[in-house]
Amino acid sequence: MTALSYAPGTVPGGPWATYLDQVERVRPYLGPLDRWIETLRRPKRCLVVDVPIEMDDGRVAHFEGFRVQHSLTRGPGKGGVRYHPDVTLEEVMALAAWMTIKNAAVNLPYGGAKGGVRCDPSALSMKELERVTRRYTSEIGLVIGPQVDIPAPDVNTNAQVMAWMMDTYSMNVGATATGVVTGKPIALGGSLGRVKATGRGVFVVGREAARRTGQPIEGARVAIQGFGNVGSAAAELYAAHGAKVIAVQDSSGTVLDEHGLDVRALAAHVEARGGVAGFAGADAIGAEDFWRMESDVLIPAALEGVLNAERARALRTRMVLEGANGPTLPEADAILNERGILVVPDVIANAGGVTVSYFEWVQDFSSFFWTEEEINARLDKILIGAFGRVWSDSEKHRIALRTAAFVVACERVLSARELRGLYP
Ligand code: GLU
Repeated sequence: MTALSYAPGTVPGGPWATYLDQVERVRPYLGPLDRWIETLRRPKRCLVVDVPIEMDDGRVAHFEGFRVQHSLTRGPGKGGVRYHPDVTLEEVMALAAWMTIKNAAVNLPYGGAKGGVRCDPSALSMKELERVTRRYTSEIGLVIGPQVDIPAPDVNTNAQVMAWMMDTYSMNVGATATGVVTGKPIALGGSLGRVKATGRGVFVVGREAARRTGQPIEGARVAIQGFGNVGSAAAELYAAHGAKVIAVQDSSGTVLDEHGLDVRALAAHVEARGGVAGFAGADAIGAEDFWRMESDVLIPAALEGVLNAERARALRTRMVLEGANGPTLPEADAILNERGILVVPDVIANAGGVTVSYFEWVQDFSSFFWTEEEINARLDKILIGAFGRVWSDSEKHRIALRTAAFVVACERVLSARELRGLYP
């Protein structure tokens, strides 16, 4: 096997290297499908675009934009778009690959894709953000479309950004194409339940994992890193089911209350102040102390690569429930497995968002919209089924849940690859 010439995987500890390590672990279980393994080690297509915009002060600024289609074997590309100053091609490649695995692990009829713009959205005005979004969408217009590749929200993007993307694409093709993105506002063909779907999925999968390990939800101590779309919705559901959310960390600080934080009040504080720091009625603790605190469930729901070997050794929890994509580095994974701490992998734990994105896409095509109850019931059923399959495979082969999820997903992707064959 030869390395790719642009070799982002050579960044030690980088997300693409993490993904390659995860794929490597699956190989002993693939049998004859191993013949196709290289398919997973190479993204099908990477598009890098220049995104020039006029700033409010008249300057012309340039941003780097990316859309990576890691696999289109099982269906159109699907995955979010991230706005962050640390976005790189390597990161987007890994995030796209994790979408391939996630969509296959949950059995959604999609390949895997991801996009990103290297920018700091907090330093942009609303108008500048709109211009970045519209120009980025026009540039990647070459490779997206309702049947081709369907973006969605991710870190620092939301329903408004999706509305601008939908509008730009639609204006360019000359017809309103609601199905080109998911996570849209309800008034533009969005789905009920989509905003909270990822957090809901984290809770539903976490509850299944707790049930199988005999841990009650009532009274469970939950620590969450990240209080954005995913962390806050998961916190709300854990609290509503009698768990205590004892600590929350975000980029502004870390707050702790052993008796359980008032999750609604915290959400209102974050809405008003932009972060958890300064939340009244809780203690402020140091950033590293977050990883040493005693809890029953620890939910990383921010960015990738946060759980390193040192933190994995220090953790005092029973379960790591991955709300973020790729939060656990391979060496930390090994330590957690050795220490008997259950790791519920991202590709199942945070699959609720893309699952309701799939429902949104289906509803857009049929122009027939479901109730929130129907959506949540179907979401829970799909996630519980997917988790059950991964759990039983992990018991059958005596492997970690992550490897089991990758085995299920890789078998689906590679057998589709084999059935399709090579063209031309
Ligand atoms: N960004 C979300 C994820 O990482 C959702 C992607 C989607 O809905 O397409 O799974």
